[in-house]
Amino acid sequence: MARARKPVVAGWFTEAGPHTDDGAAAQDTGADQDFRLIGTRCQDCGSVFFPREDTFCRNPVCSGTTLEEIPLSRRGHVWSYTDGRYRPPAPYVSDPAREWEPYVLVAVELAAERMVVLGQAAPGTALADLAVGMEVELVPGVLNEDDETTWTTWHWQPLGGTR
Ligand SMILES: [Zn+2]
Repeated sequence: MARARKPVVAGWFTEAGPHTDDGAAAQDTGADQDFRLIGTRCQDCGSVFFPREDTFCRNPVCSGTTLEEIPLSRRGHVWSYTDGRYRPPAPYVSDPAREWEPYVLVAVELAAERMVVLGQAAPGTALADLAVGMEVELVPGVLNEDDETTWTTWHWQPLGGTR
């Protein structure tokens, strides 16, 4: 039986859209063009928040309370990066029976939103593949799977080249 796909955090990103066979999806890196992180933007001052802020604007000089949902930029540039080679101590939640899989964590600067968004690099990415300033692209990813569920997340895919 197929596992259900569920976002690891509801409302933070779109589901991967349907794939089209008309050739349009073959542009760029072939990544899903519809897959986006979802933030919110204050209608008063234009500040963008991710993780989303739905109640009131966190800009200290703004009293706005109307925040609209917006998709964030699909591409950004590496602001910083590191890797996690060891299982973090509690309260980090992980299954001690499973082998720890090292991963690369990237902080990505989104120019239009003037913010930095954390995420894991796409599987197969090594520290040596990254550099500060390198362009990266948002791609759908899988955080983990259990018997019933595939927990989906986002990854940053390095595109190479620096600005
Ligand atoms: Zn505001």
